[in-house]
Amino acid sequence: MSIEVRKVTKHYGTQKALNQVSFTIKSGEIVGFLGPNGAGKSTMMRIITTYLNADDGEVLVNDHDVKTAAKQVQSSIGYLPEHNPLYPDMYVREYLKFTADVYKVKNAKERIDEVIKETGLTTHAGKKIKELSKGYKQRVGLAHALLHKPKVLILDEPTTGLDPNQLVEIRELIRKVGKTTTILLSTHIMQEVEAMCDRVIIINKGNIVADDFLKNLKGDSNQEIEVEFDYRVEVELLSEIKKVREVKELSGFKYLLSFYTNEDMRSAVFDFAHDNGLKILSLNKLNRDLETLFHELTKN
Ligand code: ADP
Ligand code: MG
Repeated sequence: MSIEVRKVTKHYGTQKALNQVSFTIKSGEIVGFLGPNGAGKSTMMRIITTYLNADDGEVLVNDHDVKTAAKQVQSSIGYLPEHNPLYPDMYVREYLKFTADVYKVKNAKERIDEVIKETGLTTHAGKKIKELSKGYKQRVGLAHALLHKPKVLILDEPTTGLDPNQLVEIRELIRKVGKTTTILLSTHIMQEVEAMCDRVIIINKGNIVADDFLKNLKGDSNQEIEVEFDYRVEVELLSEIKKVREVKELSGFKYLLSFYTNEDMRSAVFDFAHDNGLKILSLNKLNRDLETLFHELTKN
């Protein structure tokens, strides 16, 4: 297991920022850590990266405990903090050299060249950091995080504040890096997760409210069928359709049926109409989109 978080609780004064948070991340995964502002994402990431202590609970990174083996954790983890702390007056290469010294990176010169290439900084390596666009500053932040070849990358809102072109480029870069590195990345935007991740952990007010693969969340397991009959039907009768989870009466003789199954439930609705002497005037199968799910899970 790359990251194991067990029942982590954290307060700031009397305010609870994390409430018994647990999750695990396997090696090789790219996981989105999604939640609205103030949900507790950065707090959790600071605890994982040893920059903050939890009040309670346990965190292991590559089997090292963040409390008792902070050094080992730091050497196996790369971290891009929320406000990427760069030295504006340093040149890109100079900054990476400085980082390499801090981390005692072996064969520093070759490794710096490698990372510069990998993050697409070749033409910018001789520039001052303050001269770079936000997108290129993020690349420098990523290069910094990757320099010591960490097995796990923690990226705190790596795409926030980028323009659409920069966004596409950084997403691509993260996906590329994710082929060889385990990544946990936070964001408050569902589309970011869809663009980069296989799995999402949703946090709201310090509580984990969902943890699943995207294909499960957006797949047929959240199936909804909108059906229109030629007559009014009792909701109770519709509730007898197999595997139906919820029935909502819409306007006219329309109903919204929710199912939680991978099986295509349209034929069950046709059977129901046939058995009850009803005609189906229209039928629409909808898959609940992730954006809606996210809003539902984080509205309170
Ligand atoms: P996110 O990164 O999801 O936006 P944070 O982890 O930054 O959320 O914050 C979680 C909660 O803890 C918020 O309510 C925030 O106001 C509070 N908080 C974060 N940092 C501090 C701090 N240093 N002192 C007091 N409260 C804080
Ligand atoms: Mg944050």
